[in-house]
Amino acid sequence: MTTIKTAALAIGVSMLAVAASAQTVGISMPTQSSARWIADGANMVEQFEAAGFETNLQYAEDDIPNQLAQVENMISQGVDVLVIAAIDGTTLSNALANAAAADIPVIAYDRLIRDSPDVSYYATFDNFQVGVQQATSLVQGLEERFGDVNPWHVELFGGSPDDNNAYFFYDGAMSILQPLIDEGRIQILSGQEGMATVGTLRWDGSAAQARMDNLLSANYTQEQIHGVLSPYDGISIGILSSLRGVGYGSGDLEWPIVTGQDAEVQSVKSIIAGEQFSTIFKDTRELARVTVGMVNAVLQGTEPEINDTETYDNGVKVVPAFLLEPVPVDASNWEEVLVGSGYYTLEQLQ
Ligand code: BGC
Repeated sequence: MTTIKTAALAIGVSMLAVAASAQTVGISMPTQSSARWIADGANMVEQFEAAGFETNLQYAEDDIPNQLAQVENMISQGVDVLVIAAIDGTTLSNALANAAAADIPVIAYDRLIRDSPDVSYYATFDNFQVGVQQATSLVQGLEERFGDVNPWHVELFGGSPDDNNAYFFYDGAMSILQPLIDEGRIQILSGQEGMATVGTLRWDGSAAQARMDNLLSANYTQEQIHGVLSPYDGISIGILSSLRGVGYGSGDLEWPIVTGQDAEVQSVKSIIAGEQFSTIFKDTRELARVTVGMVNAVLQGTEPEINDTETYDNGVKVVPAFLLEPVPVDASNWEEVLVGSGYYTLEQLQ
């Protein structure tokens, strides 16, 4: 009896020790308006808790002062480490200086935090490659659906100009498209090129829809449009509804090839229905895994796994990064990639 009691006491004490030593990860995510960030938050909470951490997950609903306040709160509550996916990658310098003063290391999650020396590591996907894959899929779709048309009429959309990733996506895409534009195989009837012109603040689908409405009424009343470079599924939804509004996808007007990113459920359904042409799958479970590894390393003072020490100059320093591989998804492989990997169930996509 005594032995059992002693053993129970010992277990109790060791559990207490674990509880007392659990460290807290402050996780600041941009918005719940997009399914991918909900998945990012949920995966991180699950994986951090499985690794023995406590978590404090906050969403800022695309409001910059809100994100700043949330991060400052986490700092004053004394979290042990911060994981931040910035809304605007340039607005966090002061908050991060406060984190550094409190010895709280910061991991930039998916989006680079710019203009700050206080970012330890960056966990992301190969963002330039995302753009290359989007444009490659666009051209492949144009060949399949409009192979006998020359030139192809294409319009370009970029992501949010305050998100460092948006430039990488755009530059990656243009590395494929610019030669085709130069040789006249692709024509942009609006003439609109460059992130300053084609960017979409806050990745807003309704802003994209309004811009697409304007592009169509100004340039495509006599001409057909064959393709649209879209950097993100939420923007693709806006573009597709604008196209539907003027009759594409019915009668003789075939859907233009519209790309995307994130493999969000609504857009995968749209791909299955033959509307959106493709998306780019970024496995947020893997991104969470890499981030947990980085957090463990910074807290233990060891080196995390890094595979890029050159690409992500944030204006103050090159942030050491781990880049995961994005995967293009279209009607030919969605089931294998998205269901086969267990990311979605078949029922979720039906
Ligand atoms: C992410 C993309 C996402 C976009 C809009 C980017 O920073 O890398 O995956 O589509 O933000 O949320």
